[in-house]
Amino acid sequence: MTGHYLDNAATTPVRAEAAQAAVKAMTEEWGNPSARHALGSRAAEQVKQWRGEVAAGLGCMPEEVVFTSCGTESDNWAIRAAAELGKRKGKHIITTAIEHAAVLEPCRALEREGYEVTYLQPDRSGNITARQVKEALRPDTILVSMMLVNNELGTILPVAETARVLKEAGSGALLHCDGVQGFLKVPFTPRQLGVDLLSISGHKIHAPKGIGAMYIRKGLKISPLIRGGGQENGLRSGTEATGQLAALAAAVTAGRATLERDLAAMADLKQYAMDRLKSAVPQGKVLVEGGAPHILPISLVGYKSEVVVRFLSDRGVYISSGSACHKGKPSHVYAALKLPKKEQDGALRLSFSYDTTREDIDALVEGLQAAQAQLFPSMS
Ligand code: PLP
Repeated sequence: MTGHYLDNAATTPVRAEAAQAAVKAMTEEWGNPSARHALGSRAAEQVKQWRGEVAAGLGCMPEEVVFTSCGTESDNWAIRAAAELGKRKGKHIITTAIEHAAVLEPCRALEREGYEVTYLQPDRSGNITARQVKEALRPDTILVSMMLVNNELGTILPVAETARVLKEAGSGALLHCDGVQGFLKVPFTPRQLGVDLLSISGHKIHAPKGIGAMYIRKGLKISPLIRGGGQENGLRSGTEATGQLAALAAAVTAGRATLERDLAAMADLKQYAMDRLKSAVPQGKVLVEGGAPHILPISLVGYKSEVVVRFLSDRGVYISSGSACHKGKPSHVYAALKLPKKEQDGALRLSFSYDTTREDIDALVEGLQAAQAQLFPSMS
């Protein structure tokens, strides 16, 4: 790719290790893992190994990892399955107003089926507290779903503290975490977080699109997502997408190998970007500081973000206006922050990966300077 890609929270390029692993799985070890002959058993062995690699990345047991097709599938399944499991105990769910649509939409669907959902509101910096969970908790609460890292703001949510609140209250509610933006960006294990279910997605960590996984705590029995031939321990039938699995495992293993260095480099870049914006772009405002190292929400105050995104794109600088999943619609996350309209309208998200460089940031800063000089400020 030519240009400067600063939209890694939307998706990441597939890294060479992952692409090579996928090609090998598709052209050499391409048997059906359920087949009884040698090609099949070799493929089954590989699946076992890949599951182990993903489990090692998560810090859990291999049997606690179920492969899915994406983060959205994992989120939907977790929420549906938890609601189903708890329905005799109650129909109250707690989540946050800043979750991804992959969590909010299944919650809304459950509301239409008679469940009650409390959406915790963030403060102006995007923070949610475990105290809010405590206050919202009821005897009939059956599920709390809280993301680890917000995809638009980079804020880290208090998942471990929430687990403690649930424990102290003696609540039987399950805890689901959308770990899509947190996996390999902030260190955690599902056990440290105290979660029952946790979703991850391949394409945010340099594996291809079309592969995700769900951590399901050992001992937790949830209903299958897809019934059929009994793959994935009977929980998600369908012949394993071995090429995708291989790539996910390779991306996790490669990501883990240099994790500390990569996280430090991203944190450094984030600071560099904040410093450069503050000194070189008068209308540029950092909306939220701190949080995960790979996401920096800013605003070009007084300018329309869609126009700025297109302007930068023409110069080969790729960023996002809020979440790419909400194309065209105003962001529910910024709306929840109650930002001044001009800041909200100009909101942009920069997101980094291990291969982002200072030159990419410099190109962005130059692009924003040019945008300020050449674009008309918005009238609203
Ligand atoms: N959850 C979060 C926090 C995300 O950022 C995304 C993708 O943007 C998803 C879920 C959905 O993941 P996928 O694109 O793999 O379906």
